[in-house]
Amino acid sequence: MHGYDEVRTASRALATEAVHAGRDDLARQGLHAPPIDLSTTYPSYDSRGEAARIDAFATTGAEPDGPPVYGRLGNPTVARFETALARLEGTEAAVAFASGMAALTAVLLVRASMGLRHVVAVRPLYGCSDHLLTAGLLGSEVTWTDPAGIAEALRPDTGLVMVESPANPTLAEVDLRAVAHDCGSVPLLADNTFATPVLQRPAEHGARLVLHSATKYLGGHGDVMAGVVACDEEFAGRLRQIRFATGGVLHPLAGYLLLRGLSTLPVRVRAASETAAELARRLTADPRVARVHYPRIGGAMIAFEVHGDPHEAIAGVRLITPAVSLGSVDTLIQHPASISHRIVDADDRRGAGVSDRLLRMSVGLEDVEDLWADLDEALGARPERGAGNRATRHNEPAAAARH
Ligand SMILES: *Cc1c(COP(=O)(O)O)cnc(C)c1O
Repeated sequence: MHGYDEVRTASRALATEAVHAGRDDLARQGLHAPPIDLSTTYPSYDSRGEAARIDAFATTGAEPDGPPVYGRLGNPTVARFETALARLEGTEAAVAFASGMAALTAVLLVRASMGLRHVVAVRPLYGCSDHLLTAGLLGSEVTWTDPAGIAEALRPDTGLVMVESPANPTLAEVDLRAVAHDCGSVPLLADNTFATPVLQRPAEHGARLVLHSATKYLGGHGDVMAGVVACDEEFAGRLRQIRFATGGVLHPLAGYLLLRGLSTLPVRVRAASETAAELARRLTADPRVARVHYPRIGGAMIAFEVHGDPHEAIAGVRLITPAVSLGSVDTLIQHPASISHRIVDADDRRGAGVSDRLLRMSVGLEDVEDLWADLDEALGARPERGAGNRATRHNEPAAAARH
């Protein structure tokens, strides 16, 4: 079993890193909670030295040595979160942004600035990521393919291969190691928002870039918008230069909340995943449900297709919150075809397996029986005996939940 508690960084287990990474200097400074540095600028009487440090940043994108210069160049509180996330993902560095979409934008701009505008991507992706690529808003051109077609889709100007696993919203999984192999020298970006480093560390499988909408599990409480890319120091330098030039910085208070969120990430993901696995089991056995998608690696996300009207199920929840987004301490449910993936062309959406009857649920930390009672009520009356459609079950969560 690839369990959260067996994942280790070089020397410390993931659960230990979650509460200590990015905080290693605090005790020596006589501090316990990390300070929040809200400064936008920093005084310096040595402008020759500042010039040299700015030149160095322009060359490598490395964090300037010594005191900070200006908030758009880097912030000490945000840097703590970046250090911690890099430790959890097992990468050299991480660069934080104002949102997940700002993070993806920066990655695309890094590659476009090198003349590599072509992207190969596997559907489904988060709806807005799909839209950003399909509409070519940043001057990129996308080729959509399935995982087996990646090698063939690569061109000399391909700058990026992008996958999500488990994918939003169907929870489809790709074999990251096989995909990374097929990418050759083209960087693979794995959106790890759904799995989190607790369940999967894509860099270990060969992904050069690991993207998170930190708005989701990393923050974990539904009150921070943020994005982050975990990667090698060379790519991180380019991302910092793009962040400096385009301004999609993370606010220091958000950086503080994210660092705090990371400390409970392993515990939250484990607890919510246990509840989700149980709910997936019950939904699979329920005659009102046509199909349940629950990933092999586990996790706190469930997607399921109902026989009845999905809008009625959304309208019927009381404890569960009917809202887009995910990864919060409380349970959220939404209808991807109406909300998270509305912006994707209907045919492309359905082609990616996002049926009009699909519901996506982000399981939180409530008691499983309370959640089940709410779902049971929201799904409406059970069909007459014998009218159920258990034969169409395709995914047996009880077997697939853990291996
Ligand atoms: C939400 C989400 C994003 C976008 O992140 P924001 O923080 O909303 O900008 C990207 N990828 C996935 C998988 C997401 O769920």
